[in-house]
Amino acid sequence: MLNVLKHPLITHKLTQLRRRETTTKDFREILDEIAGLMAYEITRDLPLKNITVETPLGKCNTQELAIDVVLVPVLRAGLGMVDGISNLIPTARVGHIGMYRDHDTLKPMTYYSKFPDNLADAIVMVLDPMLATGGSSSSAIQVLKDHGAKSIKLVCVVGAPEGVERIMKDHPDVQIYLSGIDEKLNEHGYIVPGLGDAGDRLFGTK
Ligand code: URA
Repeated sequence: MLNVLKHPLITHKLTQLRRRETTTKDFREILDEIAGLMAYEITRDLPLKNITVETPLGKCNTQELAIDVVLVPVLRAGLGMVDGISNLIPTARVGHIGMYRDHDTLKPMTYYSKFPDNLADAIVMVLDPMLATGGSSSSAIQVLKDHGAKSIKLVCVVGAPEGVERIMKDHPDVQIYLSGIDEKLNEHGYIVPGLGDAGDRLFGTK
């Protein structure tokens, strides 16, 4: 299912990310801020368990999170969303996955993956700022399912209709979160109007 998070702060910050003149430093900070704001919305339905703690004045029956959260950035642009979310959920564990597109088959191939244990018991958030064709996100989700993940949320900042359709078709059980959905992909697979190459803008490589 697709969820477009239309909070005014998220929309405002996305506008800043899109601007051509936004510097690498600002891009990095704003992407983290958006990821944190998105996580705040996305985690609304996390389960809680009842516990009792001692305050300085006595016992308090209260609640704490009842489930582990695992963040899985898709290398490399997904790295730009990790700090913003782990600032809010410091207990979140972090896996990594790197994909490239095979020149001959055009299929996404995994060149690196490392995940924490017990994915089956965790909420797994796959992080990738751009949901373009959906090919690499779909493959990353499949790799995580093959490692036992059962509850997966795909967290992207900007999406194209083609990518959303692909994920809904390949993984109808996965919740998709975007802060904006754009018009289309161009002939190079970039989202239009989008924000350009998220990895390059994040790491200053172009
Ligand atoms: N990846 C990006 O970084 N930007 C796009 O527009 C599409 C894929």
